[in-house]
Amino acid sequence: MSLGCPKAASDAEQILTRLRAEGYEISGSYDGADLVVVNTCGFIDAAVEESLDAIGEALAENGKVIVTGCLGAKKDAAGNDIVRAAHPKVLAVTGPHAMPEVMEAVHRHLPPLHDPFVDLVPPQGIRLTPDHYAYLKISEGCNHRCTFCIIPSLRGDLVSRPIGEVMREAEALAQAGVREILVISQDTSAYGVDVKYRTGFWGGKPVKTRLFELCSELAKLGIWVRLHYVYPYPSVDDLIPLMAERKILPYLDVPFQHASQRILKLMKRPASAEKVLDRIAAWRREVPDLTIRSTFITGFPGETEAEFNELLDFLDEAQLDRVGAFAYSPVEGATANQLPGALPEGLREERKARLLRHQEDISTQRLERRIGRRITVLVDDVDEEGAIARSAGDAPDIDGLVYVTDGHDLEIGDFAEVNVIDCDVHDLYATLAACE
Ligand code: SF4
Repeated sequence: MSLGCPKAASDAEQILTRLRAEGYEISGSYDGADLVVVNTCGFIDAAVEESLDAIGEALAENGKVIVTGCLGAKKDAAGNDIVRAAHPKVLAVTGPHAMPEVMEAVHRHLPPLHDPFVDLVPPQGIRLTPDHYAYLKISEGCNHRCTFCIIPSLRGDLVSRPIGEVMREAEALAQAGVREILVISQDTSAYGVDVKYRTGFWGGKPVKTRLFELCSELAKLGIWVRLHYVYPYPSVDDLIPLMAERKILPYLDVPFQHASQRILKLMKRPASAEKVLDRIAAWRREVPDLTIRSTFITGFPGETEAEFNELLDFLDEAQLDRVGAFAYSPVEGATANQLPGALPEGLREERKARLLRHQEDISTQRLERRIGRRITVLVDDVDEEGAIARSAGDAPDIDGLVYVTDGHDLEIGDFAEVNVIDCDVHDLYATLAACE
């Protein structure tokens, strides 16, 4: 069972792939399973609770439980291992990104019955996503120390995967029929910083370990490439021409988190001094249909009403397409908890609701601009009401959908040309475009 973010899902996929490679069967239920591996999340208190509950359930239903993931690396105030304190009967506990340690624990408690049947495993590995899209993790850890976040203490500093290895995985995914790759990491634009953009090898030629080069190579696979968790470092400007030329999707997921310079400084956010509004305007001049998604935190310690209003004004000016919001949550171990001026939970939540209400009209107006246009969509599902698809502006699970009302004959994983006829706050409605 896997909880948490796409990075945790990617860890789970690696573990599943290795288990299958060694001849283990994967069970969809506790019944008949010899052992349960729980991949946990430890980001906010609600995620900790959910993970501890999942471990408790697995212990009650099965009894043999190995725990991995972010919560596995977390200690309480007294320095005790949180998982072991709550569930002393678990067989083993590892932190995130620890496939070798998980496998060692599996071998100890459930030795493999026979030799590995390596050919039982598809070359793209085993994935938790549908067949037509896949997450591609390009690095692990993070060099920043945002004060609200404990990920660096759980996952360590940035470690970029070698570009040849990343490209081999991407190529195997494309060859297996994946139509969209979602590039993920904690800090995608920092890819290669830790190895000083070292030159690696791919396709028999030298290629730098850097996001621009990676995107240029991924573009050659001829499938959709979508970037997540991009901080607005100056180098991001170099990616915009790749979007203008449609080599990668015109989509940027930039977690701005706030607009007030004082709050951003208190948060210690990367690239917070960049002139964000000017940058957005310049990006949109070059790529008018660029979709920008962002997330924000409301009620950070000390946030005044004026600073919150500054955030709302920023939303008016930035005209972002998609916005997510979180009420500040005092994650145990985060340095922001020591900042003065903690706000009551009610106010943090109320500001979040106000922010989302404020953004609703902006998001709707951005979608309305697409009515009457012809766009390409990727089909996620087909039912009696037509096809459910996504455009270049919609990442799976977090953005909207495109309902193709006459798309009954399409198949999952098809690309289709459609005419947009209507929209609501999140989704578009479209009909198939006539073939030319
Ligand atoms: S950039 Fe900040 S929020 Fe993101 S993982 Fe690094 S420290 Fe955490």
